[in-house]
Amino acid sequence: MKIQPLVMDLEPKARPEEADAEGAEVYDLIIIGGGPAGLTAAIYASRARLKTLVLTGSLPGGQPANTDVVENYPGFPEGITGMDLAQRFQSQAERFGAEVVIDEVTAVDFSERPFTVRARSAMYRGQSVVVATGAVPRRLGVPGEDRFYGRGVSACATCDGFFYKDKRVVVVGGGDSAIAEGIFLTRFAREVIVVHRRDQLRATKIYQEQAFANPKMRFVWNAVVEEILGEQTVTGVRVRDVKTGETSIIETDGVFVYIGMVPGTEVFADQLELDEAGYIVADRHQHTSVPGVFVAGDVQDPEYRQVVVAAGTGAVAAMEAERFLSEYWQTSHQEG
Ligand code: NAP
Repeated sequence: MKIQPLVMDLEPKARPEEADAEGAEVYDLIIIGGGPAGLTAAIYASRARLKTLVLTGSLPGGQPANTDVVENYPGFPEGITGMDLAQRFQSQAERFGAEVVIDEVTAVDFSERPFTVRARSAMYRGQSVVVATGAVPRRLGVPGEDRFYGRGVSACATCDGFFYKDKRVVVVGGGDSAIAEGIFLTRFAREVIVVHRRDQLRATKIYQEQAFANPKMRFVWNAVVEEILGEQTVTGVRVRDVKTGETSIIETDGVFVYIGMVPGTEVFADQLELDEAGYIVADRHQHTSVPGVFVAGDVQDPEYRQVVVAAGTGAVAAMEAERFLSEYWQTSHQEG
């Protein structure tokens, strides 16, 4: 299929419908998710003069907002704090007219247009939608985790690292998140013990080099956490050596779990095609199984999950939404 190059037109488009039958305002584009993918989509859509709404969920800024420093987003050679980057994305989107609302989507109906998006505080309608709900940290699913979540067990070193000044913490996982956040935790903790299920890290080499050179970091290889221990507070983890089957206890004041992500697709399960891991299925133009609904960022990307990649797919999704609406408006003008 030959794809026509997209020309961004800055003139407002004629819109056949500005309000639906019930009088609710109809947006040209509703973006669900306020991380790098959603906010980049908002920048592109609002510059294309689409009436654009971003519903950020309860955690505006997405994953970068929970990241200490982002060093691999181009244009910031000294690095930039995740929070600062997230705020810059948002103000850039708002500068061009996108409406950014903190509201959590609870249900959607993509069976007819305008699409319906129900959130905690209101119902919204949109002629097109970009889903950019990202992914949330996977949990270990072991005894003690739920009980101590938020008070000794965390997936956010930026949020909770400060509480572990001069303490000992365990980090579970061997990917970029575990190692980058483990390094960050050495600013506070007296010792950071990384528990990893293999004897090799998955993390990028530069993180590995930094971690191995850090005198506060120690590694427990070939081990999985089986239980988080403690009465009032976390006091330790029980780990099992996956090679020998032996169990032992590591004393610790806190546990940071970085074992990958789970896509935020619960509310879309009966509306969009998902793959077996729960990610939204997209073609290379960010189209989903429903015409007019596009997708961007980590919610469709089990592989790369980088801020720059999420932003790139957000741009494509917005351009495709603009193309879709242009065709729709042209058709409805001809018909009208
Ligand atoms: P990830 O790359 O999927 O790594 C998850 C880690 O957890 C792996 O080491 C995995 O072990 C381990 N693991 C998975 N399930 C487990 C279980 N049930 N029990 C014990 N260990 C388990 O996830 P991530 O580190 O969150 O990174 C996600 C994405 O974000 C990646 O693409 C990463 O590059 C990116 N990221 C980038 C940066 C950066 O560049 N600044 C920072 C953070 C994240 P195995 O290795 O054995 O599979």
